[in-house]
Amino acid sequence: MEQKKITFIGAGNMASSLIGGLLQDGYDKTCLLASDPSDENRSKMQQQFAIGTQTNNAEAVTWADVIVLAVKPQIMAAVCQDIVDQGVDLAGKLFVSIAAGISVSRLQGILGNVPVVRTMPNTPALLQLGMTGLFASTQVSDSDKTFAGDLMAAVGKTVWVEDEAQINGIIAASGSAPAYFFLFMEAMEQTAIEMGFTPEQARLLVQQSALGSAQMVVQNPDLDLATLRTNVTSKGGTTAEAVRTFNEQGLADTVKQAMTAAAERGAQME
Ligand code: NAD
Repeated sequence: MEQKKITFIGAGNMASSLIGGLLQDGYDKTCLLASDPSDENRSKMQQQFAIGTQTNNAEAVTWADVIVLAVKPQIMAAVCQDIVDQGVDLAGKLFVSIAAGISVSRLQGILGNVPVVRTMPNTPALLQLGMTGLFASTQVSDSDKTFAGDLMAAVGKTVWVEDEAQINGIIAASGSAPAYFFLFMEAMEQTAIEMGFTPEQARLLVQQSALGSAQMVVQNPDLDLATLRTNVTSKGGTTAEAVRTFNEQGLADTVKQAMTAAAERGAQME
């Protein structure tokens, strides 16, 4: 990966995870800078990663080739406006936003006609097991696109979308997805407790089954999900009874409705 100077505006959880991933991939730490008003978060950056820190966002942006906007969505507009008000020359700089629900046009409305890559990571990015959707504005060059993709790959897998509206599909399919799996696992855990297991046993039974199943999917890229499922479902057996019940209760339709609702909410929030 090309060693460009990257500034993180906001040195919180996601920035830490990205910086940790980049350093693990061998990124030069002198090319990384984090700007944050929190003394605690800046000293974490210095101690954990030995990278430079700043309290002045405008100076941090001036220094960098690539700016990762990693503050909470509610303050994003004010933070960007402040950088512009400080008169920073933004020419030639690439902006990568990880903020949920902030459109490219909103960012460019403040920052001007700069290249922006809008990304939608999910929470497992904090464990470097994230799934990130990316969208590039028309100003983003091919090499900047490659750079932004490599940057987000430091915390997991990436998928590009050609149309910004598809970011709402990303929200539905991966951004919100950890909660779907937690909900499903929660219901299984509760039932296992009702079947007489201790809470610790119930949690272990469910989490290890989820982990093993996910690994089977990952390690068998040539098998589609239906085949994986049929392979573990003997005719007339116990699993078949459970699957029949899920189908009778309309699980697939419920999932479709839930994902559609998430995507619609994403569109409303922009
Ligand atoms: P966080 O609260 O951990 O980090 C935000 C950081 O911004 C904090 O360190 C805070 O001190 C800093 N900050 C506040 N005001 C600032 C300012 N004026 N200038 C610079 N820094 C400032 O939040 P996070 O979980 O890291 O989320 C960051 C972004 O990532 C959000 O926009 C969120 O939507 C997005 N995101 C997070 C997740 C996730 O799982 N955490 C998933 C997807 C997207």
